[in-house]
This record gives sequence, structure tokens and C-alpha cells, in this order.
Amino acid sequence: MHRIIRRLIAILMLAAICAGIPTIVSADSPKYVICIDPGHPSEVGSGTHGRHITEIEAAWQVAQRLKTELQARGMKVVLTKQEEHKFVRNRRRAEIANQNHADYMVRLHCDSDAGTGIASYAPDRQGTIDGVTGPSKDVIKASRAMGAVFHKTMVKSLDGKLKDRGFLPDTSTAVGRKHHALIGSIFSKEPVVLVEMCVLTNPADEKFIRDPKNQTLLAKAMADGVEAALATHRKVEPAPNVRP
Ligand SMILES: [Zn+2]
Repeated sequence: MHRIIRRLIAILMLAAICAGIPTIVSADSPKYVICIDPGHPSEVGSGTHGRHITEIEAAWQVAQRLKTELQARGMKVVLTKQEEHKFVRNRRRAEIANQNHADYMVRLHCDSDAGTGIASYAPDRQGTIDGVTGPSKDVIKASRAMGAVFHKTMVKSLDGKLKDRGFLPDTSTAVGRKHHALIGSIFSKEPVVLVEMCVLTNPADEKFIRDPKNQTLLAKAMADGVEAALATHRKVEPAPNVRP
């Protein structure tokens, strides 16, 4: 009888060890959390549009591809909206990234300027809106450092398919000029970058971003940028929100 009990205990212990396997496997769980923010509609408006596609549609379509691409690279992805046309204020978008402890927030937009090409923006100073001043100096520093690497890597990966319009401060945008930083940046507690993926009012840029193949290309280029930015940043100076 005692032998049977001992054997039962041994089996139970083995079962307990087996039950522990998911904990061991979790070493393969996502290293980074990325928040993708497909721009508009928000309090800033519904965005721009080309002749065949709106900014909301372009940002949403590329966001889905970027999500797939980042997940394939082992990252956890959070989106700021679950439906293409859902209205979400920019403050709320930042809060979703904050609540999910995102390591990086990537905001997707299209421009309506004259000209052509792709540009990235990050805060270089604090802004104030609704009595709130932000982001923190650490978030500004990390956003500038990571944004520079992100943009350079993305442009290299695009291999000349879109003109490089540069990595610029939030203050180069109309909203950024008004508040000294973009609204999403002010409320962000983690490094943030906003990509103006193309100039949608330019027919050639619109043609580019409508093509599903190019949307995948853009998603891959941005995923390359995210990976490079996270790797460089971790090596240089880890911010509180960037987990090793
Ligand atoms: Zn926009």
C-alpha cells in the first residue's frame, strides 16, 4: 500500500512538473509590446484623402499588415482601435499604449502637403494641452534616439521606392506647432513615432500606397525600423518602459 502511495505521489509530482511547462515555454513569449495607432478619425478630424483612397483606409490597411509583420517577429501588438472608422481621441490613443506598457508606439498617417515621400516625427520638447504637459524628458530623449534609427532603417529598407522627407520634430507639423508637441506625444508615457507614410494628395504616392504589395513593403520596412530602434535603444540607454 505504501509503495502505491509513493508511486501516486511520484506521478502527482511529475504532473506538477508537466503543469509547469507553460511557465518554461513563456520564455518564448513576446519580448516587446508595440502599439500601432492607425490615424483618424479623432478630434483632429477624418484626415486627408486621395482620389481613390482615404487616409483612414490607407492607415488601417497598412496597420493590419504591420501587425502581422510584427507578430511574425515575436512581438505583441496592440491597436488603438478595433474598427476602421471608430472615433478615438488622440489622448485615448496614447492612454491605450500606456495601459498596455507598450515599448514603442507607432502612429500611422498620410500627409496632404505639396511634395512626395515618407517622413517620421517625434517630440523634441514638451507640449501642453488641456492643462497637461508632456511627454517626460525621458520619453522625449528615447523618442528622438529611437525615431532616428527607426526612420533611417525604414527608408533603407524601402530602397528608394518612396522619397525620404526626413526625420523631423513634432513642431514641424501644424498640430505640433500649436501645442509644441503632437497630442498623442503629450500624453505618451513611452517612446513614440508618427509616420506620414506618403503624401496622399499626390497621385503617384496615392497609387503607391493603394497597391497591397506596397502596403506589405511599407509594413516590412516599418517593422525593420521598429526592430532596429528597439535594439539600438536597449544597447544605448534603456528607458523605464523598454524591457530588456
Ligand atoms: Zn493624419
